[in-house]
Amino acid sequence: MKKVLAFDVDQTLNIAKTPIPDEIAELLTECLDHFEICPISGQKFDQFLIQIVDRLKDAKPEQLEHLHLFVAQGTQYYRYNAKKKDWDLVYNYPLTDEQVKKITETIQTAAEELGYWEADKLQEGDEIIENRLSQVTFSALGQKAGTEAKYAWDPDHKKREAIVKRCKELAPEFDYEIGGTTSINAITPGMNKVFGMTHMMEELKVEKEDILYFGDMTQPGGNDYPVVQMGIDTITVRSHEDTAYALRGILGLIK
Ligand SMILES: [Mg+2]
Repeated sequence: MKKVLAFDVDQTLNIAKTPIPDEIAELLTECLDHFEICPISGQKFDQFLIQIVDRLKDAKPEQLEHLHLFVAQGTQYYRYNAKKKDWDLVYNYPLTDEQVKKITETIQTAAEELGYWEADKLQEGDEIIENRLSQVTFSALGQKAGTEAKYAWDPDHKKREAIVKRCKELAPEFDYEIGGTTSINAITPGMNKVFGMTHMMEELKVEKEDILYFGDMTQPGGNDYPVVQMGIDTITVRSHEDTAYALRGILGLIK
């Protein structure tokens, strides 16, 4: 039997950038009794708290010890400390200031050239490019834009593929991955989910075959694809509804 259930977050556990729905919260809480549960996503720690941890209201501290937060594609790892009732940062591999600056300039230039730099559409205090410590993330309409607008912006990925292509010409030393609904994550090569999954195996002392991974972007170029390439068993989902369906099946087999 698998020991670890690992999950992409946006579009796998939730509607992108929103808290996980009740059904997923209940299923994950139940899964904590049977598996190590590892969300891994490009987002920051505070978003993991808002979108996942705060939603697991019924989980006991001893259950939360089986929840492992692989933040910023697993370049940061947080583990629950039941004594402190708080999260410990176990490791962190941030980008340098120069790398952040170079990536930020590159993405802005590429988006501007292509006419996809839509700063006029941002809500107050929002930003298109965000430094997430271990990666820099472009969100075309910012963080605060409505879900509907985000879905409509680039449903066929064409805009983001064009931006990525130009970024690779301007600064080929970085990797660019398409994720979520409007996002591109820029990282240093190797700092993708392979890095996170490799460290996950080390930290949890498990092998590839012990892990089942859920993701919505498992196609080549997608931010879940590196996990597929590693040879980890993967379930491709279209939405959190598919994930819920699969989790019900898994829990049904245990009972
Ligand atoms: Mg996703």
